[in-house]
Amino acid sequence: MSFHLRAAALLAISPLAILAQPALAQNSAPQAVPVTNSIPASRDIPYPGTMRLEVDATDLVRSVMKVKQTIPVAQPGRMTLLLPKWLPGAHGPDGTIDKLAGLEITANGRKLPWRRDPVEVYAFHVDVPAGVSSVEARFNFLSPVSGSQGRVVMTPEIVNVQWEKVSLYPAGYYVRQIPVVASLTLPAGWQAGTALRPTSTSGSTIQYGQVDYETLVDSPVFAGIHFRKHDLGQGATMVTVADSAKELEMPADVLAKHRRMVDQNIKVFGAKHYDHYDFLNAISDKLGGIGLEHHRSTEISTDPGYYTDYANHQLDRNVFPHEFTHSWDGKFRRPAEMWTPDYHTPMRDDLLWVYEGQTQFWGRSSRPGRA
Ligand SMILES: [Zn+2]
Repeated sequence: MSFHLRAAALLAISPLAILAQPALAQNSAPQAVPVTNSIPASRDIPYPGTMRLEVDATDLVRSVMKVKQTIPVAQPGRMTLLLPKWLPGAHGPDGTIDKLAGLEITANGRKLPWRRDPVEVYAFHVDVPAGVSSVEARFNFLSPVSGSQGRVVMTPEIVNVQWEKVSLYPAGYYVRQIPVVASLTLPAGWQAGTALRPTSTSGSTIQYGQVDYETLVDSPVFAGIHFRKHDLGQGATMVTVADSAKELEMPADVLAKHRRMVDQNIKVFGAKHYDHYDFLNAISDKLGGIGLEHHRSTEISTDPGYYTDYANHQLDRNVFPHEFTHSWDGKFRRPAEMWTPDYHTPMRDDLLWVYEGQTQFWGRSSRPGRA
């Protein structure tokens, strides 16, 4: 029906017909169905067993990371697996559930049907039969292929693996109580930087030592075909990946400025609260932009020329001391309500002004090359 015919039909309704319509309140007045939380609360007790996580990040053509995970079973019955949702450093529910695809859960080679929680969409429930000691989960992380889909983490030269996007964890336990060993397969000839330390390398697969799940999520990887490490002193290392080999060349005076920045910040903190620290710096205009803090590392992206044309890259400079300060103000120490035992509990950000405000004060005042 055309618009004009519809308008004519409406006008044909008499005033009496309008009066005869039931009052709006009589139409429908539904009551809300109560929302029930079926995710078990996290307890501060050891998880019975060690998770194994294998991530294959070689598919640069389709930008897909393949995940295989073995998760020990605490007991038969319902098991809830979660994808991290509330992410430290993001200060909000920024998990990438929309990029998880093809989830299959099996036990002893038999497929276990899973059900996504209708309230908490980051949760998957499975019924584990008696006699099963572990389940295997396989899924794909469909990483963005353009900025309009999210942050690009796979380019022809660089891969940025953030473990919270490529692993599930069992609900009901503090994440620091869940042991995990992870391995990462990269394109041939690539090297990787991370706060994790490898125990072995086989072909292009790197095996990392056992950590707890909280440490794993706090230890992302920058890997690339163009790769260089520079010692910054105080147990700190600059790990650089880049779009091209020439971007890796750091002039001696630029190196000296970064070494001095590390020295000066340790004096500010009054503590060296890490065993080692890795600045992961991607000099790229292809990788999605980032400046994200961790206890023993940071993910930073800078524009091409950051080392080779240092005089003209003022804006990138404060990110290094900012993120390094977060290792102390944000990780080593954190406002109590911002700390959560897992990645399901909401963070309360009232004291974000301390977490970010004080950090940016030191970020601005100690940027390398200022003094
Ligand atoms: Zn910050």
